[in-house]
Amino acid sequence: IKGLKKHFVKKKSILKPSIYIKAVDGINLTVAEGETLGIVGESGCGKSTVGRTILRLLEPTEGKIIFQGKNISELNKKEMRDMRRHLQMVFQDPTATLNPKSTIREILTEPLIAHRINPKERKALIEEMIQIVGLTVGHLNRYPHEFSGGQRQRIGIARALMLKPQLIIADEPVSALDVSIQSQILNLLSDLQKQFKLTYIFISHDLGVVEHISDRVAVMYLGRIVELSDKEQLFHNPLHPYTKTLLSAIPKLDPDDERETIILTGDLPSPSNPPSGCAFHTRCPSCMEVCKTVSPEEKMVEGSLVACHLY
Ligand code: SF4
Ligand code: MG
Repeated sequence: IKGLKKHFVKKKSILKPSIYIKAVDGINLTVAEGETLGIVGESGCGKSTVGRTILRLLEPTEGKIIFQGKNISELNKKEMRDMRRHLQMVFQDPTATLNPKSTIREILTEPLIAHRINPKERKALIEEMIQIVGLTVGHLNRYPHEFSGGQRQRIGIARALMLKPQLIIADEPVSALDVSIQSQILNLLSDLQKQFKLTYIFISHDLGVVEHISDRVAVMYLGRIVELSDKEQLFHNPLHPYTKTLLSAIPKLDPDDERETIILTGDLPSPSNPPSGCAFHTRCPSCMEVCKTVSPEEKMVEGSLVACHLY
């Protein structure tokens, strides 16, 4: 993903100039086959927009998305539809994306019909997949409302897997679930990754969840990546002040934990009017004069990619 931008235009009235919301403002990312890249940040930082733009559920304003050598940002509608079987999304709230009037069998059949899988194969595929996600063939004739939240997310995952995709973008897939159910779904996702050699982009505001599942983690702030590194490195040696504040917000269970507590003050500024210079400068405990005017560039520091004038 190279120089990805997604700007939304908000027109207040014909008399006033349009407002541009820079939800994603120049992101570079590489995701290796079989890995899980976590994307974290506060709500409103642009994480979901990144996910949707990569799959072209939203059209990018600028930038390239290269998947296995193909620039998918240039594919036409039909080519993109064919490509989509390799690229799937799992959403936060399966209740909102599972048609309440369809049985589970109908919901799982839909992607197979769209990609012209013959009817004989469909039945076998559906019956196999419902069991792989931990439900039974008997569940196929029921409706979404007859299931718990965790079961519904299993159905959402089964639907995403029906066409044996290679990349899954999971946008807050466990945020709506109870903590005890969260770990079941995370374990299921890990098992499926091994079984189907899946690559994940895992989006969450919850650092604990991201730590559980990711190999590498990108931290986003106001439409940009401020730090990107291996999970161990990020959690044990965070460099960017924003990453440090996010980590210090995780409750300390170990009394020997020497992490300092940094309180993040102020709200996330509006992406329609982001602060000048470093976008984090209005909330940064280490802010310097230069931060107010000059936007920091990404640099490799101690094995992490970080955008901050301290380095
Ligand atoms: Fe803080 Fe300056 Fe670094 Fe931004 S560039 S995170 S304001 S120290
Ligand atoms: Mg979101």
